[in-house]
Amino acid sequence: MITQLHAVLREAGLKVTAPRLAVLAAIENAPHAGADDLFGAVRLELPGTSLQAVYGVLGALTTAGVLRRIEPAGSPARYERRVGDNHHHIVCTTCGAVADVDCVHGDAPCLAPSATNGFTVQSAEITFWGLCPKCQAAAQSEAAAASAVHDRLSST
Ligand SMILES: [Zn+2]
Ligand SMILES: [Zn+2]
Ligand SMILES: [Zn+2]
Repeated sequence: MITQLHAVLREAGLKVTAPRLAVLAAIENAPHAGADDLFGAVRLELPGTSLQAVYGVLGALTTAGVLRRIEPAGSPARYERRVGDNHHHIVCTTCGAVADVDCVHGDAPCLAPSATNGFTVQSAEITFWGLCPKCQAAAQSEAAAASAVHDRLSST
């Protein structure tokens, strides 16, 4: 896998460095991770790495097109290796979990604006929001616990 990551960096015209390889490897294991999470993973492998260095690597890899940066509203930037397609994301409103959603339309922009006001349109930003399966289960068991308490109170 490490040789594959070497190739990814070289194909993008980037110098192969230990921090870049470590960040790429960390993202393979945690797609849509934020800089803090990646820093935690990278530090295990390269203890001398600073958070600033991880930000630097993420910036360089994003500029080179190796990573895609997404910024769901209210959440710090997340990074992923799936680049070059027009996929969207579904974000959990409770825990912030992110999943990929293939674009039904295919190419950007997947929505046609009703009026462009003379602008040329390159893309439309689409984010789906909802509850992830884990948070749905938690909400259900909470509701069940609440109704059990309610039953107990109303039967006394
Ligand atoms: Zn959730
Ligand atoms: Zn994605
Ligand atoms: Zn789309």
